Amino acid sequence: MDRYIAFNEDLEIEGSTPIPEGLARVVMKKHIPFYMDLANRTAGLSVAKRRRVGAVIVTEQRSLFLGYNGMPSGMNNVCELPDGSTNPLVIHAEANALDKMAREGVHVEGSVCFTTTYPCPDCAKRLCAAGVKYVIYQERYHTHLAQEIFDHYGVGVFEYKQLDLRG
Ligand SMILES: [Zn+2]
Repeated sequence: MDRYIAFNEDLEIEGSTPIPEGLARVVMKKHIPFYMDLANRTAGLSVAKRRRVGAVIVTEQRSLFLGYNGMPSGMNNVCELPDGSTNPLVIHAEANALDKMAREGVHVEGSVCFTTTYPCPDCAKRLCAAGVKYVIYQERYHTHLAQEIFDHYGVGVFEYKQLDLRG
């Protein structure tokens, strides 16, 4: 959990983990804040009350696929049950992005996933099995159980940090 990519304005700062070649081939370093911003804007499309999550998957061909957490298409788009808990039918952001890729027959192998929240174990399994090679997340999650899966598949996971060095 100690690997991170940190930016001040749009420059990578000293001390952040070196960006591996496989990641740099898909996303230019200076584009990383843009993709994370896009993931945050995508999260804003969710109507979930508890947590809004956005994911952007960038393929090796630099195609973008967006997903946010929500009910299956066409169903009543209320993400919470009457007791306030999350409806288990809600599809997570990363899963929605992967499903779009599957429907369009897109080659996922080697892709990079930007997600506003650290993936849950189910999404981690799907991302790994589909061939995503790097995950960049912004917010930590209550469980980082997925790390075992990412490590098993050799998927590089980085926390994204925006540092305010002026303060
Ligand atoms: Zn998930």
